Amino acid sequence: MQVFAKNVFRRFAFTPFFTFSSKRDLYELLGVPKNASQNDIKKAYYGLAKKYHPDANPSKDAKEKFAEINNAYETLSDENKRRVYDQVGMTGDEQDQAGAQDPFAAYSSFFRQGARGGRGQEYEFDESIFGDFASFFNMGGEAERTIKGADIYVQMEISFMDSVQGSQQTIQFEKVGTCTTCNGTKCKPGTAPGRCTNCGGRGSINYRQGAMTIQMACTKCRGTGISIKNPCTTCRGMGIQKQPTNETINIPKGIADGQNLRVTGKGNVGENGGKAGDLIVKIQVKPDPYFKRDGYDLITNAYISIAQAVLGDTIKIKTLGGDKQVSVKPGCQDGEKMRLSGLGINKLAPNQNQKGDQVINFKIQIPTKLNDRQREIFQELAKMEKAQSQDQTGEGVFDKVKNIFHK
Ligand SMILES: [Zn+2]
Ligand SMILES: [Zn+2]
Repeated sequence: MQVFAKNVFRRFAFTPFFTFSSKRDLYELLGVPKNASQNDIKKAYYGLAKKYHPDANPSKDAKEKFAEINNAYETLSDENKRRVYDQVGMTGDEQDQAGAQDPFAAYSSFFRQGARGGRGQEYEFDESIFGDFASFFNMGGEAERTIKGADIYVQMEISFMDSVQGSQQTIQFEKVGTCTTCNGTKCKPGTAPGRCTNCGGRGSINYRQGAMTIQMACTKCRGTGISIKNPCTTCRGMGIQKQPTNETINIPKGIADGQNLRVTGKGNVGENGGKAGDLIVKIQVKPDPYFKRDGYDLITNAYISIAQAVLGDTIKIKTLGGDKQVSVKPGCQDGEKMRLSGLGINKLAPNQNQKGDQVINFKIQIPTKLNDRQREIFQELAKMEKAQSQDQTGEGVFDKVKNIFHK
């Protein structure tokens, strides 16, 4: 809808309109009597603008008619301009020879005001029809003034288990939010905003340069079209304020240390209806004493004794799904690895249905303290080894076997 609105805007903004010969009576154009109230004028304008908007009405004359209607509304909706017109029968623009009015300006300002009027301060239109129309023609002018809220960066430390199993975490931070005193209206409670006197509420000012009309945002109201006489004291008329916030974050299974989570729309609020920024959470994962991570693989050490390494055994290890028995094969070497397929870390989207592996790293523990019996056994073993290795050649028993095969 915005793109559509912008196209409408472009079609008009830089096209000179000399054609609305405005010699026609402005009241006649809107079909209202000379003593019509502002409300009557607005209602009449609404009806005609809807009928002749070039996107609703493809007829050749619609564009010209639409411009005329806008021109008439532009003048008659402004009490000062209307007075001048009533007295001299010319619009201020005609007097300035600045015939190149941007019909869009009046139109968009009307609907911007109208949207505010919907809160029951200024106008009494049927909101449902009005809302339809306003959103159908959702005018580009408004979009040009919105400011997206800034992204907020926070850090969050989570446990290793929370990172691999997923969790919900509540995080506290400060953000720029809508002012709670004025609800973002920027006005002191009980007061209402007025129209900017500099731009007559349009939010923009037209400058003519040669055959072109250049539209610029009003510097006084910074394009909002409103002026606030009694600013909210809490936010000093900004409509926004820094405030502490709690946000509950869903940590997906598999997030790794240093990765960022982006939570859309949870950053600073936008200005003038702009979109909120995002909350970006940088995750820090506390190390776990047992599990280490390598990509999506889970690395664990399994400590075994010399006897278990030599003879083999069945041992219990920890996995993410609980304890599990694995067998140590006889002759297991220090540093030997065993891969348990699919017992690793859950992958992040888009591979959230996949898991890495758990890799067991066998470590042989050499005893440093022996009881008498153990010492006896090791001494026996040592004697045997010595006897074998000094067997004539001085080669160890394994070297011997090797040599037989290589001869
Ligand atoms: Zn406020
Ligand atoms: Zn202004």
